[in-house]
Amino acid sequence: MPVPPHPLTELLTPYLRALAKTSPAVARQFLGAAEEAEATPDDLADPIGDAAHSPLPGLVHRYPDRVLLLPTMACASHCRFCFRRDRVGARGMTDDQLDAALAYVAARPAIREVILSGGDPLTLPQARLSALLARLDGIESVETVRIHTRLAVHDPARALRVAQGLAPERRAALWIALHVNHADELTAETRAAIKALHGAGAFLVSQTVLLAGVNDDAETLRTLFRALVRLGVKPYYLHHPDRAAGTEHFRVPLAKGRALAETLRGTLSGLAQPTYVLDIPGGHGKVWATDAYVTAAPDGSWTARAIDGSRHAYPADADAEVAVPETK
Ligand SMILES: *Cc1c(COP(=O)(O)O)cnc(C)c1O
Ligand code: SF4
Repeated sequence: MPVPPHPLTELLTPYLRALAKTSPAVARQFLGAAEEAEATPDDLADPIGDAAHSPLPGLVHRYPDRVLLLPTMACASHCRFCFRRDRVGARGMTDDQLDAALAYVAARPAIREVILSGGDPLTLPQARLSALLARLDGIESVETVRIHTRLAVHDPARALRVAQGLAPERRAALWIALHVNHADELTAETRAAIKALHGAGAFLVSQTVLLAGVNDDAETLRTLFRALVRLGVKPYYLHHPDRAAGTEHFRVPLAKGRALAETLRGTLSGLAQPTYVLDIPGGHGKVWATDAYVTAAPDGSWTARAIDGSRHAYPADADAEVAVPETK
C-alpha cells in the first residue's frame, strides 16, 4: 500500500531563496515540486526505523556506544528530500523529556558518544544549546558530543553567531557533522561559518545525501568533496537516499550509487573519500553500500546484511539504469 506523502511546508531563509536564483542545485533541494505529492509502493513511513529503537521520547539508542538525541525538530529551512519530513517542524523535547534522556545517558556508561540531531540542534536558542552542551560535558562517561547540522548552509550568518557563542573550553570532544550536498552551498558566508566552528574548537566532518538531479554525477561529487577537504572538513558519509514518501524524484538507483562510489575511489584522495552507506529499512542500521554488506540478486533486487548478521530484502530500483555520467 503506498503511503501518502507527508506534506512539508516550503521554508527557505531569505539567504537561501537568493542562492536558489543562481544555483539550480540549491533550487531543486529547497523549492517545493509537484512530484512530492506522488506516492510509490516502495515508500516507507519510517524509512530508517527510528521508532524501533527509541526507549524514550527524543532518544534513539540503536548502537551500544552511542545515542541519537533529538532536542528539536525545527530546521531553518526545509530540504525537499527530507526523510524525517513527517516530523520536521514538530515540537521538540520538553524540559522533562530532556532531563529523562540525560539521566538515561548518565546511567549507562557504555554510551560514549551523544549525537545531537533533529531537526537541527543549532537552531535551539543559544542559551538552551549552551545549557545542553554543558550538561553533556558534565556526564563523565560521554567522551564525544557530535552535532548534525545544516545551519551553515541554511543560514550561515546565524551559524556564525552560534559558533561564536560556543564555550571555548570543554571536556568532551565536540565533532560537528555538516550536511552539504553541492559545492554551490559553500558560499563565502558558509565558509566563514565553517571557519568560526573550527575557531570554537570543533572537529568537522560532512555528510552528503546522494540526490538525483543535484549531485548524482562523479564530477559534482568530486568538486564538493575536494572543496570540503580544502576547508578542513573530512567527507564522512555519502548517504543513499532513504525511501521516504514524496521523495521518489530524488532517488538514485543503488547500482548507480555503487558505480559512482567506485569511480570516486579511483580518482579521489582518500581524505576526500566518504563512505557510501545505506540505512537498512526497519531500523536495522547503516551499512556500507558495497558488496561487503549489500549484494544483488539476478532479478535486480538486493539483500542487505545488518551488523547483527540478519539479512533484509531491499527493493529493486524501478529505474535500473546504472551508467555513471562524469558530468550532467
Ligand atoms: C546514523 C545513526 C547513528 C550514527 O552512526 P555513525 O555510523 O556513528 O555515524 C547513531 N544512532 C542512530 C540511531 C543512527 O541512525
Ligand atoms: S536539515 Fe535534515 S532534518 Fe532538516 S529539513 Fe533538511 S534533511 Fe530534514
